[in-house]
Parts: sequence; C-alpha cells; structure tokens
Amino acid sequence: MSKIAQYLNEHISGEVSTKPEIRATFSTDASFLAITPEMVVYPRVTNDIRKVARFAWQLAEKGHSLTITARGGGSDLTGAAIGKGIILNTTAHLTHIFELDVKQKLVRLQPGVMFKTLNDALQLHGLHVPSAPISAAYSTVGGAIANNSSGLLSGTSGTTLDWVHQLEVVLANGDILQTERINKRELNRRKGLQTLEGEIYRQIDGLIVDNEQLIHDKIATDVVDGAGYAGLAKVKHRDGSFDLTPLLVGSQGTLGLISEVIMKADFINRHHAVGVAAFESREAARDAADELAKLQPTYLEYIDGRLFAAALARGKTFTFYRDGFAEGTVLVFGFADFSERARARGLKKAEKLLQAKGAFVTSSIDQTEAEALAAAREVTALHISPEAAGDSTPPIFDGAYIPLSRFEDFTIALEELASKHHVQLPLYGNVLSSVYSVRPVLQLKKVGDRQKILKLLAEYADLVENHKGHLIGQGGEGRAKASFAYKHIDDDITALYDQVRQTFDPYGTLNAGVKQTTDLKTLVSQLRDTYDMTAFAQYSPYN
Ligand SMILES: Cc1cc2nc3c(=O)[nH]c(=O)nc-3n(C[C@H](O)[C@H](O)[C@H](O)COP(=O)(O)OP(=O)(O)OC[C@H]3O[C@@H](n4cnc5c(N)ncnc54)[C@H](O)[C@@H]3O)c2cc1C
Repeated sequence: MSKIAQYLNEHISGEVSTKPEIRATFSTDASFLAITPEMVVYPRVTNDIRKVARFAWQLAEKGHSLTITARGGGSDLTGAAIGKGIILNTTAHLTHIFELDVKQKLVRLQPGVMFKTLNDALQLHGLHVPSAPISAAYSTVGGAIANNSSGLLSGTSGTTLDWVHQLEVVLANGDILQTERINKRELNRRKGLQTLEGEIYRQIDGLIVDNEQLIHDKIATDVVDGAGYAGLAKVKHRDGSFDLTPLLVGSQGTLGLISEVIMKADFINRHHAVGVAAFESREAARDAADELAKLQPTYLEYIDGRLFAAALARGKTFTFYRDGFAEGTVLVFGFADFSERARARGLKKAEKLLQAKGAFVTSSIDQTEAEALAAAREVTALHISPEAAGDSTPPIFDGAYIPLSRFEDFTIALEELASKHHVQLPLYGNVLSSVYSVRPVLQLKKVGDRQKILKLLAEYADLVENHKGHLIGQGGEGRAKASFAYKHIDDDITALYDQVRQTFDPYGTLNAGVKQTTDLKTLVSQLRDTYDMTAFAQYSPYN
C-alpha cells in the first residue's frame, strides 16, 4: 500500500484499498474505455469525503496531482466513472434512505442508494421518482444526478434534474455546500463569504451577468445540449433568485462530490395500458409515431425490426411479430392515466390510428398482459448482449437527441454510414424525448474493429449535428465523447464552461479528463480490447 493510501486509511472511518484486483474491478465502467486507478476509497460518512477532497487539494497546492472520481454503480457509458487517481465508491456505505415526507413527497438519502432501491421503497407509499434510467437496478441516485439521467417516462416526466430538490455537495477543498433556491438578499450574503463557497457564488453570478446574452441565445434553447454545463442557464431566475442545483446536476463529478440529496417524488400509477405496433416499412412507422405522439401516451418507443428478427433467431417469440417485419419498425407505447376508462380510450384511439397506417397492432388493458407486451422493449437489452464469442456492442452512439423534423433524413444517412463501415446500425429510442441509441456489433480483439469505434463516433457526431441534433441527448459526454461533442459547440460557450469549472475546481482534482477534450492518441490508448456487461449480469439476464 502506498504512503498516501495508508495515510488516508488512518484518517477516514471508511476504507482504502490498493489491491490490484480491486483496482482492476474499478478500471472499467460500462464504456469502451479503461483506466486503472491508484486506489479505491470507500467513504463511510460525509466527513470521509471531505477529508479525501481536502487532502487532494492540499497535495495540489504543493504541485502534486491526485484526482478524485466519484463513482456509484459504474454503469456510465462514457468513461466518466473511471479515473487514474482515487475512485470514491459510494455503493458500500453511503446507501441510507434517511427520511420520507409523504405529504410533501420529498425523500432524503445518500448518493450510493440504487435508483431502483429508492423507487421500491417509495412504492410502498404509492410514490416514485419517474426519471429512473433503464439501468435503475444497478445504478445509483448520485450517478443519475451527476449524469442528469433520464428513462422510459422522461418524455412526459422530465429528466433527473426535474426531480432533485436539494443537494449537499463536498467541494474540491473539502468544504460543504448546500444548494437551494435562495433570494437576492441571501445570494448577496453568500457572495460575501470568504470561503470557496463565497467565491463560487461571486464568480458564477458574475459569469451569468457578463454572459447574459450568450446564455440566452445559445444555451437556454428549447432543446438543451447535454454537453458542458448547460444547467448554468437555469441557475438565476428573472426575480434574482439563485440555485446552483441545475449546474451541479449533469456535471459528472467535475464540480463537486454529492454527499446527500433530497429528491422529489410523485404518485405512481402502476396500471399501464400497453400497445405494440409492428410495421413492415420504417417510413410508415415514423409517420405513425409522429401522429401517435399527439395522443399523449405516457411513453412511446421506436425499435428497429432487425432487433426483433435477431431475438427470434435466439429463440424468443413475439405474438405480434411476423416474418417481413425485419425491414420495418416496432412501436411500443403505454397509457398510464389513473382512470381505467381514459387508459382504454387512449389505447382504442391509438389502435385505430395505427391500423389505418398499416400496422399490425396488439394491445391490452389487462395488467398482466400489458406487462408481457411491454417486455418487447427488452429486445434492446438482448441486442447489447450478443452471444457469439468475441462479439460485443460497445456504447458508441447511445443517447443522442434527434429532432423529429429531421428524423427521416437522419435514418437514411445512418444507413449510409452503416454500409460505409460494413456494420449494421439498428436504431431504437424514446420518441417523446427524441433520444435514440444504436449499437453496432464489433469484435474488439480485432484492431480494425477497435479503430472503428472512434471513427464511427466522429462521423456519427457530425451526422447528428448536421441533422440539428445533439450528440449528448442523455447522460453526459464523459471522456469518450467530449472531444466529439465540443467540436460542435461554439468557442465562446466552451470558454464559459471552462471558467465555470475553474471556479469550482481551480486545481483540477475533480474527475480530470471528464468533460474535457482529449487527444485521439490518449483515447486510443484507453480503448478496451474486450467489452461485456457481465458486471451487471446479476440484475439482467441480458447483460
Ligand atoms: C444497460 C444500460 C442502460 C442504461 N440506460 C440508461 C438510461 O435509460 N438513461 C440514462 O440516462 N442512462 C442510462 N445508462 C447510463 C447509466 O446507467 C446512467 O447514467 C446512471 O444513472 C449512472 O449511474 P451510476 O450510479 O452507475 O453512475 P456511475 O457510472 O458510477 O457514475 C456516473 C457519473 O456520475 C458521477 N458520480 C457518481 N456518483 C457521484 C457522486 N456521489 N457525486 C458526484 N458525482 C458522482 C461519476 O463521477 C460519473 O461521472 C445505461 C447504462 C447501461 C449500462
């Protein structure tokens, strides 16, 4: 054990490990990159996080770099949960749900609580946090906040940012900051503090005032680009009130270490009426999806028919699926109105519309049948876990925002990209939030396929931006996508984001390399030569 690890072990109530096997376990997340950390810290209490941060800060003051990467479930798809210094793992001890105020629908908890654990606990009270990502069983609330994650219901319920009430954050120097919306007077008081917190309030308010026009014109747009620190646009309201929460949400552990949170919850409706519509042609499905969205379903998923054809080949059967749909698309949708009549009405209207568009539709308002139908969405999980030896589906293209108005052109261009690189690119995603993913099957042991990753990513980023989309429509840009995403962001905006980061983290100790451009050579050196999701296999048979 190194001297530093030993020193930290002596001073915190949690644990520190430098064991090679443990460091290897934490050297990957769910991205296609790998970096082995120097040590893994398991904080037991907030004070442990403070001590680690303060220690790294003091080292930095003396010119030594020891970076800190906060980590929850490690399911990040962009290499944001790996780093070379300290991995600060929240899932061992920081897993308590402290209190629930059912009346106000607020819940206070630690960042290492798995999102599904939180929702399971809330369900006992008829509540949930609806922004849960698909990975909720093996990803934490802290990770979801840091990535501003979104999920199946986000098209109607918003992203994690919409469900965060307050954060407690350990700053780079070990101080604590508690976020909340404060009025002008309180802002002025905090700006007067002679601490890092005071400096943050002074600087961030100054940046917002100095860049008002830029923020208004280029960041506070209808559809927010998830790259950088776009939450800056939501910090200060017209009435002068101020809240750093939106800036910290989505910051991927680069502005502070989340040590406690208060989440908002909402009533849960477990009764969904579900329909599945299979189309022989992609064009017809796109058309229908557009119309169907106007009926305001709770969710609406678009899934390339090739994923069903591949699932059939693996022995799955689908009541709604026939030969010939491989060239088409399947739409899966649900209505979750609290009134059964409203659910049935929604479903009926949808069926009529879809049949008129030539779809083969199956639907049900019976809970058990509806759940079985909704499980059709699992074909995407099946796809990301190929069975053939050596095959894998690294997440190169997950979570891009593609506007509906350009969707058709985009899918045509995507097919061109696929044939140019001799891969298949079957698209799937959330129509209501316009967030789509696609995963090619590659063999990472082959140098050619490894080289393809960054080529595909670069060309895909251009494709998305050329169709007025954003590469980062869900989650963050992390390490893997930062260079490709920032290429499409104006220099004045990236300069502003740099100043934000510099304010919170002047020595660059927090998740260095994440949300920062990296040269191609470094990225290539971090590429994994195997990729699988067995780390999460206990939660899903398809991982
Ligand atoms: C199969 C699969 C499906 C997925 N589906 C979705 C989806 O539907 N929607 C979606 O948005 N994402 C999805 N993801 C991506 C990922 O699961 C989510 O972003 C998830 O919320 C990350 O949580 P985590 O606990 O695993 O975070 P980690 O991977 O551990 O970390 C993610 C980021 O958060 C930071 N972080 C973690 N904890 C803290 C903390 N306490 N303080 C500060 N920063 C912290 C890390 O430094 C890192 O930058 C999916 C991933 C997989 C593998």
